[in-house]
Amino acid sequence: MAVILIHIKRARNWGIANILPILIVAYLGSRFPDIDQYTYLITHRSIFTHGFLFPLVLFFLSYKSKSTRFRSLVMVFLIAFAIHLCFDMYPKGWYMHALIHVPSIGWIPAIFSQIWIIVSIFICTYAAIRLIDNRYQAILFLLSTIAIFLYQGLSEITRLSPLVLLVIIDSIVIFKIYTKWNLRTHL
Ligand SMILES: [Zn+2]
Repeated sequence: MAVILIHIKRARNWGIANILPILIVAYLGSRFPDIDQYTYLITHRSIFTHGFLFPLVLFFLSYKSKSTRFRSLVMVFLIAFAIHLCFDMYPKGWYMHALIHVPSIGWIPAIFSQIWIIVSIFICTYAAIRLIDNRYQAILFLLSTIAIFLYQGLSEITRLSPLVLLVIIDSIVIFKIYTKWNLRTHL
């Protein structure tokens, strides 16, 4: 009985008070990369907003944090960011604004843009999963991934390919981290 009560109490901690910040962060993470469309300082699909640089800074800020809430919010932001990049992997064509833009160099070739985006999705996903340290965060990871994908998919034409890409990358990262932990516990 006591165990059930503890679970109910913990589950309640993830209640309404946390839902609103999670929704806001999910929205910000989904929109963040495209802020480069609203400034004259950088060009659309800038390497600064469409890559792992900012997510990595956020990850290092939160990784050592003792606040589970902060870590969870950063995790949701990273999930939303990674999903945005999954959709960006499927533009109408690989030219101009579909390419990654580097200041003073310009748009880089399609192959390098694709590699940059894929590597960034891997890093964001890895960082998000590394922030999980209890089962509630694991459930939050799963639910957020599904909900954010559905939300972002509303405004997209291509949905199946980004979904396949996301599932493949999530599976590889989860498998890698899990086998590493398994190895560590068996050594
Ligand atoms: Zn974008």
